[in-house]
Amino acid sequence: MKTTDYLVKSMSKDGKFRAYAVNATQLVEKAHEIHDTWSASSAALGRTMIGTLLLATAGLQGEAGMTVKIQGNGSVGYIVADGTAKGTVKGYMGNPHVNLPSNDKGKIDFAGAVGTKGILSVTKMAPGDKTPYTGEVNLVSGELGDDFTYYLAQSEQIPSAVGLSVFVNTDDSIEVAGGFMIQVMPGASDEEISKLEKTLKGMPLVSEMLRDGDTPEDILHKMFGDDLKILDKMPVRYECDCSKQRFARALESIATKDLKKLIDEDHHAETVCQFCGKKYEFSEDELQLIYDKKVADAEADKEIAEKQQKEDKDKPDQK
Ligand code: ZN
Repeated sequence: MKTTDYLVKSMSKDGKFRAYAVNATQLVEKAHEIHDTWSASSAALGRTMIGTLLLATAGLQGEAGMTVKIQGNGSVGYIVADGTAKGTVKGYMGNPHVNLPSNDKGKIDFAGAVGTKGILSVTKMAPGDKTPYTGEVNLVSGELGDDFTYYLAQSEQIPSAVGLSVFVNTDDSIEVAGGFMIQVMPGASDEEISKLEKTLKGMPLVSEMLRDGDTPEDILHKMFGDDLKILDKMPVRYECDCSKQRFARALESIATKDLKKLIDEDHHAETVCQFCGKKYEFSEDELQLIYDKKVADAEADKEIAEKQQKEDKDKPDQK
């Protein structure tokens, strides 16, 4: 299948606004297929993944990644999305099977699906980074676009506008999905900002523009006319980088007695990746190896601690 998903980074010619737009139709469809999401769940997970992609490609560099968690009081439960600077994203959610009737505006009722009370948190991780940075804000609407905007303003002090949009077909497949993010740079005047706000208010939803055949570049030109410099165009996709090794490390981190129980009673373990549904089998022998290593590591740690204690005790008082 020809890929239509890509993200465009641009800047207004005077340098006062950064603007990103993305077509994410195929990657939201992929999430729908992996998790069997129903309409409201598709829209909520899709919007979260698109927002994560926009934030990650705008705010991260190199191999860095981020995890966005939405913990709202709506019927879809929690939503988790991981995005990278390179334009990959993956996600999962508490309840993929939520179909909600449209609200009085004929739109999917986000307040009911995501909730109006809760938390949006963003954790950024760079390779080798031992203390990841987490910022969090309260949800302000549950529509998610507004919530990402609020996060950027409160947690990163970046005035912005974020629009996220998913159109779900009656058979629950994704017709279109995409979004945009505009960040106001220092130097933009109040007048310029309110002019842009006016333009944005008059624009159709991203999903309507995508259904009309607009590309991400078209969407950006609708906002800024010819006053636009395209900086980069990058493919985006749903990608999971899970591995058996990663799950082995997860098994290593469970309590020794629980690991022993798994070996003695179940004689094997099956782990399932929440992001992509891939299953990893661990045989009794493999579990035993993990267990032995865990016990050996604990012994070594104990010895070091005891040695340290003894040394401290034997140390003559240095007064
Ligand atoms: Zn996976």
